[in-house]
Amino acid sequence: MKKVSIIGSGFSSLSAACYLAKDGYDVSVFEKNKTVGGRARQLKKEGFTFDIGPSWYWMPDIFEKFFNDFGKSTSDYYKLDKLSPAYKIFFSDDEITIGDTMDKICEEFERIEVGSSKPLRKFISQAQENYNIAINKIVLKPGLSPLELVTKDTMIRVDQFFKTISSQVRKNFNNPKLISTLEFPVLFLGAKPSKTPSFYSFMNFADFGLGTWHPKGGMYEVIKAMRDLAKSLGVKINTNATVEKINVKNGKTTGITVNNKFIKSDYVLSGADYSHSETLLNPEFRQYSDSYWKKKTFAPSSLLFYVGFDKKLNNVEHHNLFFDTDFEAHAEDIYDNPKWPEDPLFYVNFPSITDKSMAPEGCETGFFLIPIAPDLEDTEMLRQQYFDIIIKRFEKKTLQEVKNNIIFKESFCVKDFKEQYNSYKGNAYGMANTLTQTAFLRPNLKSKKVSNLYFTGQLTVPGPGVPPSLISGKLAADLINKHNK
Ligand SMILES: Cc1cc2nc3c(=O)[nH]c(=O)nc-3n(C[C@H](O)[C@H](O)[C@H](O)COP(=O)(O)OP(=O)(O)OC[C@H]3O[C@@H](n4cnc5c(N)ncnc54)[C@H](O)[C@@H]3O)c2cc1C
Repeated sequence: MKKVSIIGSGFSSLSAACYLAKDGYDVSVFEKNKTVGGRARQLKKEGFTFDIGPSWYWMPDIFEKFFNDFGKSTSDYYKLDKLSPAYKIFFSDDEITIGDTMDKICEEFERIEVGSSKPLRKFISQAQENYNIAINKIVLKPGLSPLELVTKDTMIRVDQFFKTISSQVRKNFNNPKLISTLEFPVLFLGAKPSKTPSFYSFMNFADFGLGTWHPKGGMYEVIKAMRDLAKSLGVKINTNATVEKINVKNGKTTGITVNNKFIKSDYVLSGADYSHSETLLNPEFRQYSDSYWKKKTFAPSSLLFYVGFDKKLNNVEHHNLFFDTDFEAHAEDIYDNPKWPEDPLFYVNFPSITDKSMAPEGCETGFFLIPIAPDLEDTEMLRQQYFDIIIKRFEKKTLQEVKNNIIFKESFCVKDFKEQYNSYKGNAYGMANTLTQTAFLRPNLKSKKVSNLYFTGQLTVPGPGVPPSLISGKLAADLINKHNK
């Protein structure tokens, strides 16, 4: 039985572990933290449950497909609810509520701009076509060659790789609020909408067409499900297990060093941040230099707050976006001229609004996120200053006082991303998907210098987000299988 050692236990590593174990490998996972899940770990405190990272369960078809590949269904592990409404956006002079059906969303668009539902339906129908092509044909390719992108479907849409989502949305809609609403989904890909190819409008279909879901108990239920599935397939999971070195002899890895102990392996697969994984190799075996990483567009980092409130809150939904300040100015502070934003946009979720299991009775679990540029100075003072800014705005926009109802608050920012995940520059969700950082132009799933070394996760193919991480794990497992034949 061939032995595979997997570094990290995020979605991509757990996905790869399951596929490889099913295919007959002897799989061991080594995670530096004390619990599995990577960026999707969980914080439990005083009866409150927080997802530390991801909270939007989009593309339910991809999760379902993952479990189906093992003869299981998501419902064998967790209960899913479609959120209604999906989310609410606060603007400076209005609020937009995104319903759980296209009809409801069209009605809301008409309220904002008469006649806008017609171009919306057309836009979403094209987004659906892109979704089908992307998910069924492109995303499942390992990104080894540009030819993977050359298909009949992509050739007739080639212009969509060179136009941006921003220009496409502006061509069809005038109202700034509708424009921001339609540009929101591609923010998950980590770059500005003006730098994201319009082909990625498939994210709009994921949003309006497939909807926003919630696994009862939170996103960590998915991690638990994958951990349990992996264990049932024979995967050995080791936590508090820091990988210190990937050992190489004659162009092949012989194994890894974990907490000072050598673990002999036939294959090594790293799901830790790619740039960190390569530092575990002697320099001559690294494929990408420091200057390579420096030139890349990274997804933002984040300042996060996990807050326990001693009362139920009003005028908010499960997911809430505060787009009541200048989107462009904040985006500039993230991408063009990295600095702490003056007037940040922010995102808040209160899972306890739809899921009672996530907070004590009569209380609310609150997660606040401000996207910021990676590698910014991160001090307690700055964290507190920004908390004060957003809580004040939150109170004003939602017409209620909440500051004195905070039982506790914990924060997480650049320093924590670096220390806890070995994240490059403290990025929150990997390397952005821009035209020059798509498919074969991303860091490779397979090392070009070490024959039996592979990579997976949000810095490689296909990109950031939970569904892409599930797919990334499968792609890496497929490549190992191919090599082994
Ligand atoms: C705040 C936030 C919000 C997000 N929101 C969403 C969302 O709503 N929806 C969505 O789909 N996606 C979201 N994402 C993105 C999503 O969480 C990630 O894309 C995904 O979890 C990445 O998984 P991964 O396996 O690539 O990496 P990770 O989860 O980072 O896993 C890598 C693992 O490797 C471990 N590791 C690192 N170095 C070592 C070492 N030397 N030895 C051993 N282990 C090591 C780390 O500790 C970590 O556990 C969000 C991310 C963040 C941070």
